[in-house]
Amino acid sequence: MINQSPTWPRNTQCAIALTFDLDAESVWIADDPANIDRPVALSQGRYGPRVAVPLILHMLQEMELPATFFVPGKVAEDHHETVQAIAEAGHELAVHGYTHVSPASLSPAEEEQSLIRARDVLRTFTDEVVGYRSPAWELSPHTLGLLKKLDFAYSSNMMDDLRPYQHPESSVIELPVHWALDDAAHFWFDADSWNKKIATPSEVREIWEGEFEGIYDLGGAFVLTLHPQVIGRPHRLRMLREFISFMDSHSGVWFATCAGIVEQARSSLA
Ligand SMILES: [Zn+2]
Repeated sequence: MINQSPTWPRNTQCAIALTFDLDAESVWIADDPANIDRPVALSQGRYGPRVAVPLILHMLQEMELPATFFVPGKVAEDHHETVQAIAEAGHELAVHGYTHVSPASLSPAEEEQSLIRARDVLRTFTDEVVGYRSPAWELSPHTLGLLKKLDFAYSSNMMDDLRPYQHPESSVIELPVHWALDDAAHFWFDADSWNKKIATPSEVREIWEGEFEGIYDLGGAFVLTLHPQVIGRPHRLRMLREFISFMDSHSGVWFATCAGIVEQARSSLA
C-alpha cells in the first residue's frame, strides 16, 4: 500500500466511487434455484429495476454525480429499458457475471464464456465496458488471469487495500471494496431464517462516516457498494442522499466512475 500508491488529480484528497450492483431477480435465483417459482421472492429483486433505479437516477441527476452500475448480462437482457436509461444518463456499465452464479462454481471455460457473454450484452448499451465485479465477491483461481486475457481494465473485488493497486504481472488494476461499505451486509433480510434484524439507517451511516473519514485522511479511494433493491427503500435513499452530501462537504473529494478512478490510478502507478 505504501510503496505503490496512486496520486489523485490536483487538489484531490480522496476519490469516491458510488457503485450499484443491479442484481434484480438474478441474486434470488442464484441463492436458491427454487425461487424461480416463488413470485414474492422474485418481486424483491424486481423492485430494483422497477422502482429503485429510477429513484436513484433522479437523485444522481439532481446531485450531478457519476456512478458505476455492475449488471449481470441476463439482467440487462431482461430489464433492457432500465439499463438503457442508466447508459443514457451517462453512467458506467460494468460486468457482474452473466447470471449471478459465483465464478468459483464454474469451470475455467464456463467462466470465460460467462465474462465474454456478459460483456457482449453490455456493449449493446455502451462502447466502454472495462470493469468486473464478481457476483457475491467470490473469485475463482482463474478469474484474474481471465480478466487479463480478456483485456478488462479493472477488478473491484478484493479487500486488501484502501487504494487502487495493480495486480502483479498483470495490467488489471484492483479497486478494493469491503463488506462494511456494502448496503446488503447491513440491510439484507433473510426471510427463510429471520436470523438478523434489519439495520437502521443511522447505524449504517455511523459505520460509513467513520470509514469515509479514515479513508479520506489516508488519501484513499472510498468505494461504496449499493444494491438498488436494498438501498432503494425510501428511508435508506434519504440516508444515502444525506451521506453523499456529508462526503461532498469535505474539501478535495472527487466523485468519479470506477473506470475514471482506475484510469487515473493506472497513469500515476505507471
Ligand atoms: Zn450482485
